[in-house]
Formats: sequence, C-alpha cells, structure tokens
Amino acid sequence: MKTLYRQFIQTSLVFLVLSIVLGIVLTNVYYLSFTKQETIEQNLDRANEVAFTLEQMHGDTAALEPFLSSVANLGYQIALLDSNQQLTTFGEPFEDLTLTVQAKQVLTGQQIYTGENSGLSFFMTSHFSSRLDNTVGVPFEVDGQQYALFLRQDMNLLSSDIHTLLLAFLLSIAVVNLAGMFLMARQLTRPISLLHQATREVANDNYSHQLAISRPDEIGDLANSFNEMIGRLRQNDESRKTFITNVSHDLQSPLMNIKGYAELLSAKAADGSDEREYAEVIEREAKRLSGLAKQLLLLSSLDQPAYHLKADTYSLDDQIREAIKHYRWRLEEKELDVSLKLMKVSVYADRELMNYVWDNLISNAIKYSPSGSSIRIHLADEEGISVVIEDNGIGISAADLPYITERFYRADQSRSEEGTGLGLAIVKEIVRLHEGKIEFESKNGEGTKVKVYLPQYEEE
Ligand code: ADP
Repeated sequence: MKTLYRQFIQTSLVFLVLSIVLGIVLTNVYYLSFTKQETIEQNLDRANEVAFTLEQMHGDTAALEPFLSSVANLGYQIALLDSNQQLTTFGEPFEDLTLTVQAKQVLTGQQIYTGENSGLSFFMTSHFSSRLDNTVGVPFEVDGQQYALFLRQDMNLLSSDIHTLLLAFLLSIAVVNLAGMFLMARQLTRPISLLHQATREVANDNYSHQLAISRPDEIGDLANSFNEMIGRLRQNDESRKTFITNVSHDLQSPLMNIKGYAELLSAKAADGSDEREYAEVIEREAKRLSGLAKQLLLLSSLDQPAYHLKADTYSLDDQIREAIKHYRWRLEEKELDVSLKLMKVSVYADRELMNYVWDNLISNAIKYSPSGSSIRIHLADEEGISVVIEDNGIGISAADLPYITERFYRADQSRSEEGTGLGLAIVKEIVRLHEGKIEFESKNGEGTKVKVYLPQYEEE
C-alpha cells in the first residue's frame, strides 16, 4: 500500500527539487539580463583607464610591464598581446589562454572586445571562469607599437567563497526542508493511524478506547468528536446491556410461576379436554419465553468486559458425544443418520459454555435437516482444534449467510421452525472468548457446514 506518509514525502521531495531548479534558472536569467552587462561595462572602464595611462607614458615600453604588474596586484588578471602576437600575462595565471577570432581583432581591427561572443555557457558560473576569452579587450598604442590589453577582475578567491556560500545555502535549505517534511508528515499521518486503530477497536465493540490526541487544529477537533462519539456509544452499550439483564431477570420468575401452574393444570385436567390443551399451550409458550430470557441473560453476561471463563481441561470428544446423546430422541424421530469421526482431544475451555456451542450447532443441524438425511461431525487436532458439523438440510442463502450470527437474525425459510435467532450470536461470542473462530459454508437447499476452530491451550 502506498501510505499517506510516503506520498507526502515523495510529493514534498519533488517540490523541493523543482524549487531548487527553478531558483537556479531564475537567478541565471536575472544575471544574464542585468548583472552581466554591468560587469562588462565596469571592466571596460578599467581597461580604458589603464590603456589611456599607458599611452600617456609617451612611448616608454620599458615601463609597460611593471605598470601592468602593479595594476594586476590591485586584483586583476591581465594579458597583453603585442603586434608579434606575443602574449604576456600579469597577475593570477589564466586557466585557458585561447584567444577567439574576435579577441584577436582588437589588435588588428582596433575594436574593443567584450567577451560576449566567446561562446561561454549560459550559466552564471561562467562569470567566474578564469579564461582569457572571459575578459574585455581594448587596443592601445605605445611607441608606435599596437597592443591589445585584456583584463578581468580576479575573482578566483571570491568565486570559491561564493561557491561555498551557495552550496551551504542550498544544503541548509535542503536539510531544513527535509527535516520539516519528515516532521510534518509524521504530524499528519500519526493521528490518522491512531484514528484508524481506534475505529477498529470500536468496530470490535471496545468502547473504552480513547484517542490520546490533543491539538489545536482540525485533527484535534476530529479526535475530540471521535472521543465524544465513543463516550456516547459506551453509554448506549451499557444501558442496552443493563436493560437486557434487568428485563430477562424480571421475566424469569413470573415465567417460572406460569410454567409451574400450567404444568399443574394440565396434570389435573382430563386427557383430551380443552383445559388440558390450553394449559399445554401456556406451558409451551412459557417454556419458550423462559428459554429466550435465559439466552438474553447469557448473552448479556458474555457481553460484560470483565467476563471470566471458568476453564478446565477435559475431553472434547466425550463432550460432543454427550451433546449428541442429548438429541437421541429427536434424531430417531427424524430418522437422521449421524456419522462421527472424533479424535481423542483434550481441550482447556469453559465446559458449560462449550456445551452450549455444541448443543446449539447440533440442534440447528437437526432442526434444519429434512427427515432421513445425514449429519457428519468431525473432530481433529490439526493446527489447533477443529470441529466440523455438516448437514444436508435446507441450507442458507448467500444473502442471509453474512448475517446469521447477528442477534435475532433468522433466515426467512427457517421461520417455520422454533427459534429465537440468538443461538449463533451466543455461539460466536463464546468461540471469540476462547480466542477461536467460527466459519460457515452453505448453499440454499444443499446443506450447511459449520467449522469451529479452537486454540490448543495448555492448562496454566
Ligand atoms: P435459531 O434459533 O433461529 O436457530 P440461530 O442463531 O441458531 O437461531 O441461527 C440463526 C439462523 O441461521 C437460523 O434462523 C437459520 O436461518 C440459520 N441457520 C443456522 N444453522 C443452520 C443450519 N444448520 N442450516 C440452515 N440454516 C441454519
């Protein structure tokens, strides 16, 4: 995945490089348009003054060299071309002594030379190049002899200083920018990953998570709203659970009374009488409601964050066998064939809760299977413990499959069977508390395969 952090760094790097390139181009354009011409004019003034002074010496060729040496000492690089094409230099030596055709014309054509046509590159660094063609040239005459004087300011020292300064300048811009970029990227992306983590916690029903982000900007506002939202969700969740616990508690005792009296009534009433039939209906309904209240109570206690499993080590294959025995009558009634493949496996788990799991999965397999079909139960201990319960029943449509573990969800085609839609929600919760997982494969009309995976714990 291309993270936001990487994208931010990449984009900022591109902008940094672009701004440096643009900076260099603009500086060059400014130099070529303004500074360069001024420098040439200044150098021409100096060269003309020197040439004028030499001409005023009235033919004293012997004074030529000492005079040019002393001018060079004032910070100039000078070259003198005499009529024999003899070149003498003064001051810091030139890097390159090649003279262009235009430069030579100073001597013959009595023109001035401005270095402009010397073919130097467009970069301003050429301004500092210590070449003979990067000078200005003026003609003069001493003692009837023609000379050409080439001159430029000696900027070697200055140039290296400028280069160092420029480099330091660019480096400090780059370092400060890079450091700022990494800091900014972290500042922006860290709260986003914290938010991401927090949303995942909320998605897993953990409402105790709080975002530790305190900033005076939009991200800070978002974090505050998020914390507020978690607070509200937590309150809602708590009141929902308290409500369910209270309701199911309060339902239990009157229901037990109704059930008890209905049993008494049906025992007393004569066989086949209306009274007996009514009493049986009351008893059945009371039983159903009591079952629902029990399921609600169990679910709400599993929901408590501090729920403690009462785990111990026991034989899982024996437990599954026992659970099947429980349904012996119903299996016989529906003429269902059960094939078992149970390895001897010990498990460290909450016996009572796991009983609920097998009980519910087996009862579902029986409930949603047509008479005469078969159910297969397979227990293995590869990669942890796996229990597979497979039936050839009515199956679950692809549209219903993602929702069957939701509370009170029942697929339409199973409505004719008794049920509450809470069984699988409880099973899923119990498996989750054991750090296991549950998977469903099913096709409408073909059957259902439920796989429960449990980790292999060692008793502590
Ligand atoms: P219920 O009390 O309705 O059985 P459950 O939570 O146990 O509630 O199951 C939820 C729904 O999942 C059921 O109503 C049914 O539609 C579907 N279901 C569960 N197990 C099976 C199965 N073995 N075959 C077909 N449908 C199933």
